[in-house]
Amino acid sequence: MRAAIATAVDQPLSVSDLDVPEPAAGEVLVKITACGVCFSDLNLLRGHYPFARFPVIPGHEITGTVVAVGPGVTWPEVGTAVGAQFLYDSCGHCDYCVRGEQILCAQKRITGIVADGGYAEYAVLKAGFVTPLPTGLDPVAAAPLMCAGITAFNGLRKGGAALGSRVAVIGLGGVGGMAVRYAVAMGARVAVIGRSRRGEDQAKQLGAELYIASGDTDPAAALKAWDGGAELILNAAPSSAAAAATLGGLAPDGTLLLCGYGPDPLTLPTQPMVLNRLRVMASPSGSPHDLRDTLAFSSRHGIIPDVTPISLDQASGALDDMAAGRGQGRSVIVF
Ligand SMILES: [Zn+2]
Ligand SMILES: [Zn+2]
Repeated sequence: MRAAIATAVDQPLSVSDLDVPEPAAGEVLVKITACGVCFSDLNLLRGHYPFARFPVIPGHEITGTVVAVGPGVTWPEVGTAVGAQFLYDSCGHCDYCVRGEQILCAQKRITGIVADGGYAEYAVLKAGFVTPLPTGLDPVAAAPLMCAGITAFNGLRKGGAALGSRVAVIGLGGVGGMAVRYAVAMGARVAVIGRSRRGEDQAKQLGAELYIASGDTDPAAALKAWDGGAELILNAAPSSAAAAATLGGLAPDGTLLLCGYGPDPLTLPTQPMVLNRLRVMASPSGSPHDLRDTLAFSSRHGIIPDVTPISLDQASGALDDMAAGRGQGRSVIVF
């Protein structure tokens, strides 16, 4: 099978021919239909994951079809269309795993960083960690739901987004754009914070009622003027400073939620946090049940990412574009 391999930090992907792997007990072999190119893949190559295993096949926004199952596997059956995500597997027996919060397991492994992922024609995945695709969901457009989608959807609900609540989203990239659409569909009122005015039209088209360009307007003051502030601010920008700059725009009892973050520490003024009982939380993608919910919600509300199909050989270039800030929309490798 053809696969793009990350061999070491700061090295370009190398496309090679490998043997198709065989599923062992508890595993399924998935013929990959599509795999999204995610900012995390770039972070892998930049060496931001000290726990990464090299060489590794990157990619954790996977859709495909089960073509073989390992010994003892009765589900999913051969022929099932599935998605696979950031969480590759977990220990299965700790308190978090037993609660269905496998994403919090200390032994969790990450697809495409610790275990081989989706930049290949086939992948061996864990039967209990793949998610059936709802009928009618286009497997190419759906690929980014496995990471950008679940991260945005799950972040919003863990952060308390609800009907009528005021939700601000920082950044309109993969996660941010999805967060705006989900929040609108949840019935929240939505503000978007971008650096320039460039994203304003897109934000309004997605259903945001307020757009703040942080390059010329203090985002905290602008949010505070929005009926007393946001109840939830979701940072989808790869910058901790962008998140910190909005803290004063939280309503009392509000939550600043990090889905995106930068290598810089998050520095916040503490007194207003105490006086207003503010919360800061962060949220990784989610557990298998969260992906089921994400796919069901996306399917029901027609929230499907805009994607640019590319070939495996174009993946390296797509990552370079992302690094240079040239990327427009989500690139998805199609096999
Ligand atoms: Zn566990
Ligand atoms: Zn991702």
